[in-house]
Amino acid sequence: MKNFNEYNFSGVKALIRVDFNVPLDENFNITDDTRMTAAVPTIKKILSEGGSVVLMSHLGRPKDGPTDKYSLKHIVKHLSDLLGGIEVKFTDDCISESSFEMSAGLKAGEVLLLENLRFYKEEEKGDVEFAAKLAKHGNFWVNDAFGTAHRAHASTTIVSQFFEKGHKSFGYLMEAEVINGNKLLNNPESPVTAIVGGAKVSDKIKLLEKLIPISDNIIIGGGMAYTFVKALGGNIGKSICELDYLELALETLEIAKANNCEIHLPNDTVVADKFAPDANKKVCKTAEIEDAWEGLDIGPESTVRFAEVIKNSKTILWNGPMGVFEFDAFAVGTFKIAEAVAEATSRGAFSLIGGGDSVSAINKAGLEDKVSYVSTGGGAMLEFLEGKSLPGIAAVID
Ligand code: AMP
Repeated sequence: MKNFNEYNFSGVKALIRVDFNVPLDENFNITDDTRMTAAVPTIKKILSEGGSVVLMSHLGRPKDGPTDKYSLKHIVKHLSDLLGGIEVKFTDDCISESSFEMSAGLKAGEVLLLENLRFYKEEEKGDVEFAAKLAKHGNFWVNDAFGTAHRAHASTTIVSQFFEKGHKSFGYLMEAEVINGNKLLNNPESPVTAIVGGAKVSDKIKLLEKLIPISDNIIIGGGMAYTFVKALGGNIGKSICELDYLELALETLEIAKANNCEIHLPNDTVVADKFAPDANKKVCKTAEIEDAWEGLDIGPESTVRFAEVIKNSKTILWNGPMGVFEFDAFAVGTFKIAEAVAEATSRGAFSLIGGGDSVSAINKAGLEDKVSYVSTGGGAMLEFLEGKSLPGIAAVID
């Protein structure tokens, strides 16, 4: 398969699936434009080579068809700014006759944004007729929406069948996500360390299964660590725990042992007397938490131990925070781990921040430029790393 860079888009009308599902405040100001800026290089390449661009995306979860709140018209101005001030045309319906007239009339260097795809329920259903209509907007399909690549929707997957081989490609963003995800999964340089945190074991169990055979170390932090500690016979007080996962937690530890993968659990923890930013806190052993207390961060000893493992690694995956980092008082462990990942990267390690809240944690720590790659797709990257075939990727490759 050709790289995106190898295609020349002169005279081509590219229909690009982007992920412009950005957060908007009550005045429709974009509060985080990361997903938009991430798609700009793909759009610019096509325009600079003399192609034209039809952009399609979803925004939010509209339930009742067209709703002003979820209209992509709110992002037109900002998109135009990001593209250097060029005009961005907009259609208020993604498959209306007038939208087809507009895309048919696009000239080289021009951009058209279609209205929210999810105003049609056919989008999420993966409806073939709807996809066929979308396909009429271009003669080349580019999938650059990694954030929705794990969904077989009309615009992310089904539309592919209306474009011949050689007339579909990943964009730069999607390509980078796939390359970096594969770097971790396929022959990573050892020692390989996966840092897995977040609230629940149940969300991460498939990921752990996939990571154990390729990792030398798995560091488990965050709320999910308490299920492991309880399974091993510890007292975890009121800490978050999934009782129906105790057995699976023990099995996971056994499988890791058999695979020579060392699992690192926090031996100390920062406990709170309530789940609140202003809770009283103290440090104790993770296996000796008093009944009225709950663990909200890894303790200082564990932080130092984990950081040491991370700094000696050559390949690092980080998925999920070490504690409730949304509360400043319980963000220390997560931030120290972020620093350790950054330091390992500066010593030549490959570090991928992917899936889960570790992406917002690394941003909050201000270290996003000090790691090798920060994924833009939370759920999509998690499924990719679990080894699943993502329909949005398969649709381009097959
Ligand atoms: P994930 O999306 O799987 O990365 O999970 C992230 C969420 O896990 C964040 O909102 C954290 O606040 C939460 N979390 C991390 N540690 C704990 C903990 N010890 N107790 C409760 N929630 C936690």
